[in-house]
Amino acid sequence: MKEKQHKTCPSSLGQVGSNLLGVVNPSGTVGFFKDPVEVTQEFIDDAGDFENLERRFRFSNKCVQSGCKQWTGKECGVIKAVLALDSIPAKNDLPACSIRSNCRWFYQEGGIACNGCRYVITNVSEPATEAIAE
Ligand code: SF4
Repeated sequence: MKEKQHKTCPSSLGQVGSNLLGVVNPSGTVGFFKDPVEVTQEFIDDAGDFENLERRFRFSNKCVQSGCKQWTGKECGVIKAVLALDSIPAKNDLPACSIRSNCRWFYQEGGIACNGCRYVITNVSEPATEAIAE
């Protein structure tokens, strides 16, 4: 089935044009924002420690599908890999999230994606890949 519109990637880079999706808490889980926050140059300047921006925040942007190395040809492979991990505790609540209606991972996997998503920290050493917080 062809998608009607571009989905939103929930693990994108911290750059102007992205949206701030959430903050990585000291516990390693992500606290999501209910409303989208546009990333501006001012935000980046104020955030400091630019090298580690994606270790402290989660960002969303347009899913580029085959333009991303995580695209399997028909879907995003990241959330599949995350949900296959035994270390993800089961939870039933859906965190408040600004992109759910158009989120790539939620579109693919449903509510269970949100459970795994809260443990994902974007890995920028290999663009568009992710790591689970230790
Ligand atoms: S998987 Fe769920 S919590 Fe994560 S970004 Fe998508 S809708 Fe939000």
